[in-house]
Amino acid sequence: MTTRCAVLGYPVGHSRSPAMHNAAFAELGLDWRYEPLEVEPERFDDVVRGLEEQGFAGANVTVPHKLRALALADRPTDTAMAVGAVNTLSFSNGSIAADNTDVEGFLRALRDQRPTAPAGLRALVLGAGGAARAVVYGLLQEGAARIAVWNRHGERAEALSEEFRKLAPQTTLEAVAEPRLEDVDLLVNATSVGMARGKESDAQTGDFKLLRISADRFADVQIVVDLVYRDGGTALLREARSRGLTCVDGIDILVHQGAASFELWTGKPAPLEVMRRGARTPQNGREG
Ligand code: NAP
Repeated sequence: MTTRCAVLGYPVGHSRSPAMHNAAFAELGLDWRYEPLEVEPERFDDVVRGLEEQGFAGANVTVPHKLRALALADRPTDTAMAVGAVNTLSFSNGSIAADNTDVEGFLRALRDQRPTAPAGLRALVLGAGGAARAVVYGLLQEGAARIAVWNRHGERAEALSEEFRKLAPQTTLEAVAEPRLEDVDLLVNATSVGMARGKESDAQTGDFKLLRISADRFADVQIVVDLVYRDGGTALLREARSRGLTCVDGIDILVHQGAASFELWTGKPAPLEVMRRGARTPQNGREG
């Protein structure tokens, strides 16, 4: 019988995960299938509890279900608990295991570009939602020297910093009212700014008004990571690339978080290049 996997989201129509995972299953000759499941928040618990008996071995979880998935899990990993959100569920013997592979996805994609990163780096993280929490957790675990967190609603950045500071006392972690790029080695956009076409920047001036940063101030920045992905890339990464900076794009992170999920479910090494090709197939959409 075909083993099933899914991505649960609302909406989920633009997800690149089915193309990415199905390409990987085919490459390894596995009789597995990955499907998008659009699940309204009020149906989430019932749907998840019924998946194993319908032949599902695992599922990815995306917006808006990542918090609820943690609450529902029988066996969350330490990472999922610390981040406070789950993107990967695995089903066996009536029990639900849960992990957050966004952390690993971010770190692996970063290390593809800079193998020693993020140890010793001074980071500025934009955002304080689920993705920012995974990024800050990864930076703390792997020895970033300093992390500044800026968010549009500043109280969320304050709360995040307060909560995570105790995890790694050797790293300076602080919320900032304005994002300053001076003395920053690593800039990470973990907001959703850049998902909506045409709103992210002023192409003439390199100003990213919603993020309150300007490319004119990139002098100290060495690496730019944008978790947002879309066909053609984001304006932030285009600007960074045009200035010769090292760039990590959201699709690379998607591929690595998907590979980590794939390995949890199948117990086999993920075929990264095949997954990358699957994920990069244009969708004529904005998200995945
Ligand atoms: P989320 O929990 O909803 O958080 C959204 C974040 O974006 C918040 O910090 C929010 O600030 C900020 N934001 C939204 N609109 C803004 C605006 N107009 N101006 C300034 N800030 C704004 O979402 P998430 O799960 O963290 O996801 C964030 C992004 O990362 C999404 O685009 C998602 O697709 C992407 N992501 C990518 C991957 C990957 O594998 N590449 C993995 C996870 C997430 P406020 O708190 O002030 O509202």
